[in-house]
Amino acid sequence: MQINSDFLRLPGGYLFSEINRRVAAYTTDHPDVKLIKLGIGDVTRPLPEAVLSAMHRAVNEMGRRETFRGYGPEQGYEFLRRAIVFHDYLSRGVKLDVDEVFVSDGAKSDCGNIVDLFGQNNIIALSDPIYPVYLDSNIMSGRAGEYDNRTGRWSNLVYMPCSAENGYIPEEPRCKVDLIYMCFPNNPTGATITCSRLKQWVDYANANDSVILYDSAYEAFIDQEDIPHSIFEIEGAKSCAIEFRSFSKTAGFTGVRCAYTVIPKQLQRGGISLNAMWNRRQCTKFNGVSYVTQRGAEAVYSPEGKRQVRANLCYYKKNAKMITDGLKRAGLTVSGGANSPYIWCKVPRGMASWEFFDCLLNRANVVTTPGAGFGLSGEGHIRLSAFGDTAETEEAVERIVSVL
Ligand code: PLP
Repeated sequence: MQINSDFLRLPGGYLFSEINRRVAAYTTDHPDVKLIKLGIGDVTRPLPEAVLSAMHRAVNEMGRRETFRGYGPEQGYEFLRRAIVFHDYLSRGVKLDVDEVFVSDGAKSDCGNIVDLFGQNNIIALSDPIYPVYLDSNIMSGRAGEYDNRTGRWSNLVYMPCSAENGYIPEEPRCKVDLIYMCFPNNPTGATITCSRLKQWVDYANANDSVILYDSAYEAFIDQEDIPHSIFEIEGAKSCAIEFRSFSKTAGFTGVRCAYTVIPKQLQRGGISLNAMWNRRQCTKFNGVSYVTQRGAEAVYSPEGKRQVRANLCYYKKNAKMITDGLKRAGLTVSGGANSPYIWCKVPRGMASWEFFDCLLNRANVVTTPGAGFGLSGEGHIRLSAFGDTAETEEAVERIVSVL
């Protein structure tokens, strides 16, 4: 019997476990201090009323013989897929067929599971810093290649550093790469990409036969006109991209669980449809999302649902602005925070990101996320999240300003 030894090569200690360890140690030593958490990107606003009502109705349906539902379609119920196609895509000029949308329990699950579609020896381009799931899922499944102890790098991976110099937008690699992970609005940097810049990436992918894995879990935070919500707004993307979306941050579904992935039928490699492959994969390994949850997600697109979701997003966006303005007032260099719930902040000169994390924890009693946890290029930064309570966020900002 052999275990999958690739698990042994995963980067040690998950970022948030280390944060929790340090926070727990501080709390043990200072039981009376009230910490404010601007670290983890979980939402705090309750579910919109329209979603709740729809879920209650669906629960009642499940309790009656005539309306009870058992196993649902693995790809998602047609009512939700139709709502997604209409409200999220057609409204922005993108035409999709219903069977190009696959409803799931999370963008995390889909971003991690999508590796099933690809061979073991692709060259994979990853932005650095990055949402850790893209990297870890390739390592776990043996797709990252050989590990170099000296450099700490994997042979199948091409890292694309994102920094203030390139506006936190990755540059096309000089070599040919097969898979490209992109996330906009970005976690952790809060950066967004314009239509014209994304078009260059789409052209690169089509010219090189690469596939772009585009994570737009935070698209609902986009306000600016020239920033695309979907990669499929870009001409040519249907032949080279897969898109991941989520109700988590849009509508407070982090605990309810619902997301979706779009794989256009045009996306073929070697004459094989990736849409058909994913369909086969989901039918075998995935049971679909519960009926009650999908009725809740459908309600996000109702007129009241849209209004209530907008109000929650407004709440978080105000927090983002408050954090951005406060940190600037404290003399820090910040980016993100507009069209995004994340604020990416340069740590004061001479400090490492974990050092600044500890400084804010100990002196301001505010919990943040050290940039180094997202990759080598994240060093020298911390990430703050706008998903907290407004009064607490305000207090956290005041504390940081007075400490600095
Ligand atoms: N993608 C990115 C970039 C994220 O930051 C997150 C969550 O933090 C997810 C996906 C996860 O989304 P979901 O809750 O739908 O699994």
